[in-house]
Amino acid sequence: MKSHRLRSTPIPGIRDEYTGVEFNLGFHVTHYDLDMDYKVGPNRLDATATLTLTNWRDLPHMTLDLHENMSARRVEATGGIRVSKFRQSGGKLRISFAQPVPVDTEFLLSIRYTGNPGTKRSPWGSLGWEELSNGALVANQPHGASTWFPCDDTPDEKATYSFRVRADQNYTAVTNFTARPMASYLATVQVGEYKRHRLGPDTFAWLPHGTHPHDLHKQQEMLEFFSELFGPYPFERYEVVVTEDILEIPLEAQGMAIFGRNHLRGNERLIAHELAHQWFGNSLGIAQWNDIWLNEGFACYAEWLWAEHTGTPIDDSVRAHYDSLTPQNFLLGNPGARHMFDDRVYKRGAITLHALRRHIGDQGFFRGVRDYVAKNAHGIVEPFDLANALKPYGDEAGIDAIMDAWLNHPELPECP
Ligand SMILES: [Zn+2]
Repeated sequence: MKSHRLRSTPIPGIRDEYTGVEFNLGFHVTHYDLDMDYKVGPNRLDATATLTLTNWRDLPHMTLDLHENMSARRVEATGGIRVSKFRQSGGKLRISFAQPVPVDTEFLLSIRYTGNPGTKRSPWGSLGWEELSNGALVANQPHGASTWFPCDDTPDEKATYSFRVRADQNYTAVTNFTARPMASYLATVQVGEYKRHRLGPDTFAWLPHGTHPHDLHKQQEMLEFFSELFGPYPFERYEVVVTEDILEIPLEAQGMAIFGRNHLRGNERLIAHELAHQWFGNSLGIAQWNDIWLNEGFACYAEWLWAEHTGTPIDDSVRAHYDSLTPQNFLLGNPGARHMFDDRVYKRGAITLHALRRHIGDQGFFRGVRDYVAKNAHGIVEPFDLANALKPYGDEAGIDAIMDAWLNHPELPECP
């Protein structure tokens, strides 16, 4: 949580160094209730967000992230707390109270807002609410959630969510269903003419009419395989949405993933990757974006584990990708905003895990990983949480040395 965050720069470091989002300080949102009406044709969203908050200091005023495409029309609080004014500027909804809200108050903030949601520009392309040729999708990572609801848009600020979304007749609005805490970037709404298919006891797909699930049929077997390796699947079920439009890359959401119809054949690797994010990234969230390798390294390693399960030795995958890690100088533990989604985060991250596995041995490594997943379920993690979970199964100094060499020094260590 922000209040406990240790920072090298004491006061001025009040923004996320990767996304530039200024922290919304003084409170924690514990629940978002999103009640939304969406008109596909005019791309019009009319919504009320009711946030449950607790404040860890007196609050004369507060901010939330809300993109300028969406206009707040009314802001009200409960429990005798009076909102004296609100305004929007710089991607923030700025709310002032008539009297400061005393520390440790739990209260509701109800925000009615409307607009034509759209993406926001970022160094990583367009983020947020995006119109499709027939419907809409949401692609938030890392800070696009504010394009469609007022939120505290940093990854460590998990909250529970409830959704009521109404779209035009014939359209389905698919949202996260999980009761578990979730980071704002993993919240999603997908609108389209979708039909739900059951792929297995825990796996479902929302497909455009007349679309065959193809490789998605393997998801149930993958889910069972990963559950053996990493521990039980962390959510109630796993659903994927397949858009009629072609998508460049699939995206993960909590309990869900979104694919384009172009991903349905010959992309088992991507299907495994997105599913693995349910453990790594979604249940186990990261505190800060510089640790993104904890999400992507594990998801990429899961691709290779699935490939190993289906016939490609893991050392072949490791060797092939090790040789492609160029330029080799790369600070995995803090790659910088520009390189946050660099392929080396994925591949070097996965090979770091392989180096740990080779050092500890298969049995100890996977036991440690299962401990790491169980202990930190639905919370947030940093690299030392992984190191701590592995240490009972290997020599501590060796584990620290491997993590230090792969994460904190740009030079590429020997291939494990
Ligand atoms: Zn990923």
